Amino acid sequence: MASEVAPFIKTGGLADVAGALPKALKEQHVDVRVVLPEYSQIPSQFLSRLEHLGYFYINVSWRREYVGINRLKLEGITYYFIDNKTLFHRETLYENSDRALQFTYFSRAVLAMLKKIDFKPKVIHCNDWQTGLIPFYLKEEFSHDPFYASIKTLFTIHNLQYQGQFSKDILEDVMGVSKEFNVEIMGDHVNFMRLGILYADKVTTVSPTYAQEILTPYYGEGLEAILTRRYTELVGIINGIDTVDFNPETDKELYKQFTTTSLSFREENKKKLQENLGLTQDATRPMIALITRLADQKGLDLVQHVFSEMMHLGVQVVLLGSGDSKYVEFFQRMQHYYPHQFSLSMKFDAELAKQIYAGCDFFLMPSRFEPCGLGQLLAMRYGAIPIVRETGGLCDTVFAYQDDTTLGNGFTFKNYNAHDMLYTIERAVHYYRTYPDIIDRLRKRGLESDFSWTRSAQTYRLIYEKL
Ligand code: ADP
Repeated sequence: MASEVAPFIKTGGLADVAGALPKALKEQHVDVRVVLPEYSQIPSQFLSRLEHLGYFYINVSWRREYVGINRLKLEGITYYFIDNKTLFHRETLYENSDRALQFTYFSRAVLAMLKKIDFKPKVIHCNDWQTGLIPFYLKEEFSHDPFYASIKTLFTIHNLQYQGQFSKDILEDVMGVSKEFNVEIMGDHVNFMRLGILYADKVTTVSPTYAQEILTPYYGEGLEAILTRRYTELVGIINGIDTVDFNPETDKELYKQFTTTSLSFREENKKKLQENLGLTQDATRPMIALITRLADQKGLDLVQHVFSEMMHLGVQVVLLGSGDSKYVEFFQRMQHYYPHQFSLSMKFDAELAKQIYAGCDFFLMPSRFEPCGLGQLLAMRYGAIPIVRETGGLCDTVFAYQDDTTLGNGFTFKNYNAHDMLYTIERAVHYYRTYPDIIDRLRKRGLESDFSWTRSAQTYRLIYEKL
């Protein structure tokens, strides 16, 4: 179960995972099916191919809600779309004032659907707060029915910052649960993420380092005590990427395809990108890219703090992303000051993202926290060298280049500090200008790494089997 799944609907890394993991599981002979809400934003090329399986009604507290079940089989995977136009035909995915209702409905609809279509999974794999009520309703209500009694749940935390927190008013009004329900479990607020963590049979998150970090107050977002309680059931499994969709050898979106043995072709992508983005066309200028949500998590205040120093290094900076207005305003101003050195594209554009990964020299992720991070993996897949802060999944996938051993695949810094970041960027630029052979070696190392889902999918399968 996931609230976003590539290629249908995507706001971030969760969609990538929910899109790619099922395919990797299928390779390992797991019968995997994916359920998601039928948003109006899903491209019509998919919506027009949905097969209507039927409909029924469910109770959501005092409401009676329609549940349409539509199915699409794509590349060997079966997807079920939960259709309710009142709840899912909206301007935004998660910003709605009745989102508690949207995802309470989704959880109940998904559980009820299983019996209607007579598909009894051995495990329901839930992802993030939007599906946190599935383990809760399964244990508290549905498991009284023998059909559901043996189903186990796995809950995966993709980002602990977004928890789905609501006032207790929704207990009776939306969730259909008594106000007197166990206070120790419920806490001061209703928190969908907390319920998912407490009720699931197993909890995972998306990197081993993040699994450790979230047990501490700095990273735990107020749930560290609950997570510590479930410590023995908490495992970190690193995400992979879809190596078929993201392949520099075959990608149609690139100006020029390339491999490790034709790395010089990569430069064509950089030149064309400079031209398209209105930057000075100069292959020797180090180009640093960021492709990201403009949110506090992503360390953009560090970039803000030393932006002019970065510009003084003579680098070009390319930023693709949208989000918080405080960052938008700052970067718009910077674009005005440095029109040929800094490019800002404020949109979500998967095609441009690939062109940037394939054209930039360095990919910057100075995150405050990062559960796994896909940007650094995609960057390496396309031969860009990551510059990252050592946190979460960045710590598990990017290793600082060491002069003495020549090991490593990128540049890293430890403290959340703008000048530590700047120093690391300076170091990377120094290598770029002085030791092109080392830069080439790092690029190749990235290109040749295995970021496929195979190994992680095996770990998930083992967890399913154990459950
Ligand atoms: P998060 O899930 O926290 O946003 P991740 O690094 O895990 O961060 O995943 C982000 C994903 O979204 C990557 O695939 C990245 O390429 C993509 N992405 C982020 N912003 C944009 C954008 N503006 N346009 C295109 N793709 C984007």
